[in-house]
Amino acid sequence: MTSTSTPTAASGHAPAPHYPIAIIGGGLSGLLLARVLIAGGVDATVFDLESGPEARGQGGMLDIHEETGQAALRTAGLHAEFRAKVHPGGEAVRVWDKAGTLVHDEPDTGDGDRPEIDRGDLRALLLASLPPHALRWNSKVTGARPLGAGRHEVTLADGTVFTTGLLVGADGAWSRVRPLLTPAEPAYTGISFIEFDLKDADARHPEAAAVIGDGMCFALGDGQGFLAHRETDGSLHLYSALRVPEAWLDAHDFSDTERTRRLLLDAFADWAPHLRALLDGAEDGFVPRRIHALPAGLTWDRVPGVTLLGDAAHLMSPFAGEGANLALADAADLGTALLAHPGDTEAALAAYESVLFPRAADTAAMSAASLDMLFGEDPTRRLVDVFTGAYDPQG
Ligand SMILES: Cc1cc2nc3c(=O)[nH]c(=O)nc-3n(C[C@H](O)[C@H](O)[C@H](O)COP(=O)(O)OP(=O)(O)OC[C@H]3O[C@@H](n4cnc5c(N)ncnc54)[C@H](O)[C@@H]3O)c2cc1C
Repeated sequence: MTSTSTPTAASGHAPAPHYPIAIIGGGLSGLLLARVLIAGGVDATVFDLESGPEARGQGGMLDIHEETGQAALRTAGLHAEFRAKVHPGGEAVRVWDKAGTLVHDEPDTGDGDRPEIDRGDLRALLLASLPPHALRWNSKVTGARPLGAGRHEVTLADGTVFTTGLLVGADGAWSRVRPLLTPAEPAYTGISFIEFDLKDADARHPEAAAVIGDGMCFALGDGQGFLAHRETDGSLHLYSALRVPEAWLDAHDFSDTERTRRLLLDAFADWAPHLRALLDGAEDGFVPRRIHALPAGLTWDRVPGVTLLGDAAHLMSPFAGEGANLALADAADLGTALLAHPGDTEAALAAYESVLFPRAADTAAMSAASLDMLFGEDPTRRLVDVFTGAYDPQG
């Protein structure tokens, strides 16, 4: 049974509470795993460093693919809830070159297999599918150590500890669980994003809304560009992407909105005026973000009682749009494997990892190839060839 007591201080006399299955991280992968297990009659507890479900804006749109993300939502019994939150029109795609020519304009015909959902809506429906006792907020894991026989002791930032029979690292890019399995760490991909939003776009930023259209929009050239989405709340979410050294972000103060705007306008100095003008409307400031990835094809030897899901297992650049889909697929596969092997955790983990490793390797290679395509030579022609089926970035 899941412990219902509060974790006790390491120095206290009471024994540390024990959780049969502890999932570290309440992102998409951790929540979906908990849902599959609990719906299957197996208790699991999710520990997240956030103070609560609304602590952090989720932002961004995700297209959820039939064979991975949607299949996982079916396994979790949540596909109907997902369909109800799909963003109509969100599968539209536009591609501009830096000279300002619209080289591809594909409407959402409503029959695509990659429906878009707001990341916050997806997380909210996963959270709503769980009983409150399955979620432990304010629980930042700082470390974990093996106790033998597949058990682990987990330490939280407030000094409390607990033990678990199965430790699942669903704690994202900078996982605290991953070192139990591999010394691998994320490395900078060479691309940095500076993100910004244009609120109430149709009324307040009609020119930008007309450039971006109803769904996803790319403007690319010379190893940089804009990647943008229309969101369900009528805002536009944009990433200006630059191929810059890792230290470049440290050299600038992005909290100064006007200086950042000038910096970006300089970086896009020879771009078409209507593309540069996308930067004009950013009122709420700019947020810098380096894009990191784990080595493609990362695996580890089986270590009793611990495994990884999602970005913790295979962080990759977002340019194939697969990270969230894989996170959901991993979670469904691990949950299914655990339900199929009651009482034999190691058999379940081996079965899960035999699917995880090759799938993640293929997709990481695809993400790396997509990065080269978007920020390499002749990006708009190659991207349009992908959308028309004439080019396979992995081929
Ligand atoms: C800019 C950008 C755009 C993207 N666009 C797409 C896209 O279009 N399509 C797509 O499929 N994917 C996309 N991705 C990738 C996608 O966001 C991730 O792959 C996905 O969110 C991974 O889910 P996860 O559950 O593994 O990890 P996360 O979503 O990162 O969740 C990890 C959770 O762990 C918690 N946590 C972290 N550390 C600790 C700790 N020490 N203790 C306790 N809790 C902890 C965090 O609070 C968080 O809730 C994008 C990523 C980026 C950066």
